[in-house]
Amino acid sequence: VLLGGAELLDPDAPGLGHGSLLIDRGRIAERLAPGAKPPGDVLAIDLGGLALAPGFLDLHHHGRVIFSDAALLEVALFHDASMMLRHGTTGFLVTTISMPAPGLREQVARLGELISSPLRAPGATPLGIHLEGPWINPRAAGAHAPAGIRPFDPMEGEELWARAQGAIRMVTLAPELPGADALMARLGRLGAIVSLGHSLASDDVVTQSVTRGARHVTHLFNAMGPLHHRSPGLAGAALADDRLSCDLICDGAHVHPAMTRVAARAKGPRLILVTDRLDPPEDRRGPLAGGDILCDGEAFRLADGRLAGSRLRLDEAVANARSMAGMTRLEAVAACTLRPARLLGIESERGTLRPGARADLVVLDPQNRVLETWLAGERVYAAPGRG
Ligand SMILES: [Zn+2]
Repeated sequence: VLLGGAELLDPDAPGLGHGSLLIDRGRIAERLAPGAKPPGDVLAIDLGGLALAPGFLDLHHHGRVIFSDAALLEVALFHDASMMLRHGTTGFLVTTISMPAPGLREQVARLGELISSPLRAPGATPLGIHLEGPWINPRAAGAHAPAGIRPFDPMEGEELWARAQGAIRMVTLAPELPGADALMARLGRLGAIVSLGHSLASDDVVTQSVTRGARHVTHLFNAMGPLHHRSPGLAGAALADDRLSCDLICDGAHVHPAMTRVAARAKGPRLILVTDRLDPPEDRRGPLAGGDILCDGEAFRLADGRLAGSRLRLDEAVANARSMAGMTRLEAVAACTLRPARLLGIESERGTLRPGARADLVVLDPQNRVLETWLAGERVYAAPGRG
């Protein structure tokens, strides 16, 4: 297949401009300049100047999974993975929340099984598990239920790693808690990403944790101490330290637009867009603090008004990153493609239009609406009215 006449939004090759992608056996075989003749027999599709970007990657997606017990996880995971295709997301980390040990163990074990077996129908690829908690600061819990939060216990850790069958790719933890050093050391040996979050750590503690392997910060500004000029805390240290990348919920509700600009300027290529999306079932009851969550049209909240997660999609996050954070279109695309792929160490496979990468692609109109999503060289979603 030749996808031609496209504006190539390749974060790996900025300024590539227009051209075509030759796709063979599910992968990008070649990038061709405009007018270049494709070899032999190909099915040529003319995109008429629309933008072609790598499929989006979401490091923080709760979806319906966190509302499901182990028996219903497969249905929930498939629901999440298939819905994402409409919004251009082709890969994600299934993100758990803080839960009492037996429930978390069961959920992680089932997710480990599901992630290692192929999905039954087209859907974004679950790239692994992101454990958000339980090893977080109860005083920065956000909407996590207090009963699900605890200090790190190496016995529990070993059991979780074993049950996950290698699927744990990222852990959000508070570095100021007892046991956090042992946890970070263990995650380093497992090859999982240490992300700081739900934390009231001082900048000193953050700096020490970077020397112990922390590389990333979860939802910058949310569920952490405030940014104060004499007490920078996690947010200030995250903005100032180039060794840390940060992710941001750019929905206009979780972070004020002015602070998204601060983040974009301070972090530059180290800023990543995530959704932190929830997809509660009809009855809206869930495992979060307080049980009921309400959607105010912008985000989900607990009954007391505390933010509990977003209803954001990555295509909206890209649009918001341009309008709120002042990022260019290519930067905003990079922030949910190449940058998360690099953090996960999968940038030769995903998040790029490089030859050899999987042909997971998104076709965008000038307003960044997703018109088509492709998975491994097959079109799996077309917007209504698009043949
Ligand atoms: Zn969170």
